[in-house]
Amino acid sequence: MSEFRYCKLTKEWVLFAPERLKRPNNLDNKKQVAPKNIVSEKCPFDMHKEEYTPHEITRITQNGEWQCRVVPNLYNALSIDIKTSSTRESFFEKFSGFGAHEVVIETPIHDKQIWDYSFNDLTNYLTIIQSRVVSLKNDTRLEYISVFKNQGAEAGASMSHSHSQIMALPFIPKKILEEYEYKKKYYQKHKRALLDDIVYEEMQNSHNLIAQNSEFVLYCPYASAFPFEVKIVSKKKLSSLLEFSKSDISALSDILKEFFTKFYSALGEIAFNMIINNAPYKEYDEQTKEFYRFNIEIKPRIYKQAGFELDSNININVVLPEQATKIYKES
Ligand SMILES: [Zn+2]
Repeated sequence: MSEFRYCKLTKEWVLFAPERLKRPNNLDNKKQVAPKNIVSEKCPFDMHKEEYTPHEITRITQNGEWQCRVVPNLYNALSIDIKTSSTRESFFEKFSGFGAHEVVIETPIHDKQIWDYSFNDLTNYLTIIQSRVVSLKNDTRLEYISVFKNQGAEAGASMSHSHSQIMALPFIPKKILEEYEYKKKYYQKHKRALLDDIVYEEMQNSHNLIAQNSEFVLYCPYASAFPFEVKIVSKKKLSSLLEFSKSDISALSDILKEFFTKFYSALGEIAFNMIINNAPYKEYDEQTKEFYRFNIEIKPRIYKQAGFELDSNININVVLPEQATKIYKES
């Protein structure tokens, strides 16, 4: 069973999840030795292999076949079925591994990657994630939801079949909480959302602007931590997928499609992490929309982080965002 342990030095929680060691791994840094179809035969995320995944939570079906499914993570780091409890171990403190850990199987097709998705695939993908963000909010023990995609071994993926993950926690992680409080204070002082002001400035300095539509803006942040990092930010007052209408989902699908076409053409099959940032569940109300802005971060993993980054939390980025923007725009 997993558990959170509190680090007294950093004031951050560490999640210990020994179950994760048992994960199958059909990806590694070397080239795949087996032909793709043999790997695919063993893949539990494929069409007609549904019996190999744990009890399905939800699915989207079109023309009689499923397009996206959500299942509990078989090698879960968190479990929704255990009691929330904290224990003191003399000087130290631990907390049971309570929470949700789900897998979004984005497509039934083994070799289809996000840069191959149609507008309809992206809409299904966002719609099923939205349904989980809405549903998990009903569990009042959960304070924070993390939605992310690891693409490629260098980004931490262990399965090559395109998927995302959802982890819902009974507390807000320290880093997120600090940012959240900062955004709230900024709003109290300026009556504007911090990210709205940042986006305004980024748009003035059009060197970093890749594309935009009526609802979203896509740019390389001024102080990108990773080479070719991008951010997609809502121009409307949306703080979470909880608030998205069908047309908001369509506009987001459009800009994601535009981005991943450029991404593949500029960089090829590069590993990346994508984080879909929604306002935390805790304290969520009408006011949240004023100071918290929905956004997606995509961080390509071209270079590995090393000792200096671990020590100082300062990333060394070898590509300026204005240069990355130029390459994306020409792709
Ligand atoms: Zn597969």
